[in-house]
Amino acid sequence: MTHRTINNVTIECTLGDIASQADMDAVVNAANAQLRPGGGVAGAIHRAAGPGLDEECRSLAPIKPGQAVITSAHNLPNKYVIHCLGPVYGVDEPADELLAGCYRRALQLAEQNGIESIAFPAISTGVFGYPLEAATRIALGVMTAAAQKLTQLKQIRCVLFQPSDLAVYNQVLDELKGTR
Ligand code: ADP
Repeated sequence: MTHRTINNVTIECTLGDIASQADMDAVVNAANAQLRPGGGVAGAIHRAAGPGLDEECRSLAPIKPGQAVITSAHNLPNKYVIHCLGPVYGVDEPADELLAGCYRRALQLAEQNGIESIAFPAISTGVFGYPLEAATRIALGVMTAAAQKLTQLKQIRCVLFQPSDLAVYNQVLDELKGTR
């Protein structure tokens, strides 16, 4: 697993299913505005969490692009789910700031809730159409910058669904190593 450590915070990239990260305190959902089950990440998370998650989400919806909310994880093997609404590429602007905002708010919520480990999917890069490499630079850029100031979080895992996506994450993480 490719990883780097900044200020005792490990950032790692792996291939897998976001709904099967049993060793993480929290997993991040690439949510829709209504926080309802759907396809992709949201489908996998809600399927594994069960109907209690959908029920808890109702009172928190809708959310806006760039926002994040936290719930318990119900039947998932984690403590919390942090739901982020990424930008729809070409529609929600400025897309880069909104996407960065998702990652920043998710990390902030994790810190506020004493979460020590969190797994992220590649928000907005599925149905929402954000080009993977640009999204990867934003995701890893926010994580590496935030790591300098984190006090609770010790482990950040990026979970990629496709080997070609993992290769891009590993490449960008490697490049960031060179610049810091
Ligand atoms: P968005 O609507 O934010 O684009 P999607 O769920 O459609 O979110 O996809 C986000 C990314 O997550 C895509 O790169 C997709 O390949 C990946 N993905 C889909 N299902 C899973 C899963 N179960 N675990 C991890 N990543 C997933």
